[in-house]
Amino acid sequence: MTSIVKPEVKTLAYTKLADPREFDGMMERDMEATDAESLLEFAGRSCYQSFHKPNPATRSCKDYLANIIKQAHGSVLEHATASFYITGVSRSFTHELVRHRHLSFSQLSQRFVDESDTGFVVPPALRELDAVFSPIRFYETMTTKETLQWLAEGCTLNYSWFVEALEDEGLTRKQAREAARAVLPNMVETRIVVSGNLRAWREYLLRRLDPSADAEIREVSVLILEELMKVAPAVFQDVEDWYNSLGGK
Ligand SMILES: Cc1cc2nc3c(=O)[nH]c(=O)nc-3n(C[C@H](O)[C@H](O)[C@H](O)COP(=O)(O)OP(=O)(O)OC[C@H]3O[C@@H](n4cnc5c(N)ncnc54)[C@H](O)[C@@H]3O)c2cc1C
Repeated sequence: MTSIVKPEVKTLAYTKLADPREFDGMMERDMEATDAESLLEFAGRSCYQSFHKPNPATRSCKDYLANIIKQAHGSVLEHATASFYITGVSRSFTHELVRHRHLSFSQLSQRFVDESDTGFVVPPALRELDAVFSPIRFYETMTTKETLQWLAEGCTLNYSWFVEALEDEGLTRKQAREAARAVLPNMVETRIVVSGNLRAWREYLLRRLDPSADAEIREVSVLILEELMKVAPAVFQDVEDWYNSLGGK
């Protein structure tokens, strides 16, 4: 029995200061700032040795980083990173995600991992589709959800048969699985660890939260943004404001 799964973004790691006292005598730390934000502020201020915060308009870490973003001084944002474990997402999603060359990936291997009871991801539009189908050889009609379940179970059943048949022919388990995975659809669940610096995450979000992006990648990107807002709100506030200004479009 295959199950329909939902996306989840778990934060595995993010930048923490080794010892905030290292700033002592150089930069007074803004106590409202997260560790990641303080590191970015320190890195930015090191360029002009402006640790004494001469500009009143950018005294707070939040205002300082907003100015860094406005000035497109993007490399400063590369000093802090965040890593996530993303599950309950489709292979279509990761196919698009891995195009972002400044992020780093470790993805579930379909050559090694058995996919006979894998989960399936239903794209947002199909989740909402109120239609009935009469799939081939069925006399009764089925809802969208039942049809997807039927398709998913057919794929995993055929996958298992192919793995078994190939193993019977003397292929190793890895060889059998790598061939049999050809019959799995784009909606098959995958899991992936993704790490990136905050500049790379911004570039990713600005493309993938856009209304022109795929609906599933947008949905997962909202979850990623929520996590990044905990790591460094000052770096992602404008992205969140922009996304909210779209009003769900
Ligand atoms: C709505 C949408 C539709 C898409 N449709 C398709 C499609 O039909 N077919 C398809 O193949 N892809 C498609 N893509 C993927 C797209 O072409 C990019 O591969 C993807 O968005 C990654 O972004 P990127 O290449 O700008 O940069 P990333 O890899 O995320 O890098 C970020 C930035 O770094 C710089 N950079 C990175 N590498 C280089 C380099 N080698 N040289 C110079 N500058 C570099 C660029 O400024 C780049 O914008 C689509 C993307 C979106 C958002």
